[in-house]
Amino acid sequence: MVIDKRHLDVGLIGNPLSHSRSPVLFDILFKQYGIDGSYRLLEMSALNDLPDYLRIDSSLAGFNVTIPYKQDIIKYLDAIDANALKIGAVNTVRITRNKNGKNGDYYLTGYNTDYLGIIDTLRSFNLEKIGNAIIFGTGGAAKACGYALHGLSVNYCMVSRSFRGSRSYSTESGLKYHVIRYEDLTYYKRTENTLFINATPIGLWPDVNKSLHLPDSLILPNDICFDLIYNPTVTSFMKQGADKGATVKNGLQMLESQAVAALRIWLEQE
Ligand code: NAP
Repeated sequence: MVIDKRHLDVGLIGNPLSHSRSPVLFDILFKQYGIDGSYRLLEMSALNDLPDYLRIDSSLAGFNVTIPYKQDIIKYLDAIDANALKIGAVNTVRITRNKNGKNGDYYLTGYNTDYLGIIDTLRSFNLEKIGNAIIFGTGGAAKACGYALHGLSVNYCMVSRSFRGSRSYSTESGLKYHVIRYEDLTYYKRTENTLFINATPIGLWPDVNKSLHLPDSLILPNDICFDLIYNPTVTSFMKQGADKGATVKNGLQMLESQAVAALRIWLEQE
């Protein structure tokens, strides 16, 4: 990464943010890449506070977006990257100052670096051996997982508490995903070497003892259980997988990889 000397002021928008390790992670990355940077937690109880906030705080060069705003942020953007548009979720925004956008004298461009972090993590598994994938959750991170798996030619379905059938990623994407319900898992014809991905907040700190209600016979020893959660380091989903002899992984590599991709965007080196 080529670094210039200006100060990089960035942050994270979401609610709640108390679980986030992003400030610690970005401090490490700033040191590693020799960047004079600061990363702030910008907890917002409503996203419609954002335009006023950005008008007042003119030093901010960009921000990450997390729960629950990854999809709602899109209507505040002036431009969106093609992958983020297809996924229908944005986790990184670059602010261009001195350029008028629809909400004031700044211009917002949205990206999705989650799916880059997911691809990076998936490549650490033996993808050749993976049969199908089952993603728990249907939110922004689940869609980024689906989009990454689609790019890697791995078949997948998503599991939802409330929906069964086919859905589109976004109106523009032309891509569809198949959704089953948790009760369908008992009868679901799984493949050998299934990749399970937890893309729900179940098990996230401080509710570390909550776990997904899965049929006892679902996970087998040759499977992989990848939890997007990284706090706690060993999650309830990873324990469920490890109890069945599966390979388990948390979301730390994804977090690091999507953060480096976000830095490149803010430094205009993507
Ligand atoms: P989101 O948009 O709020 O979606 C979460 C999904 O989980 C929902 O669509 C919902 O699907 C399901 N869900 C919510 N509450 C649930 C519950 N009580 N029981 C079962 N399912 C529930 O959140 P997200 O942004 O996709 O994030 C999902 C998870 O990924 C979070 O834990 C987040 O911390 C993690 N994440 C990690 C990284 C990383 O870098 N490691 C990056 C992004 C996200 P249904 O309503 O269809 O059931």
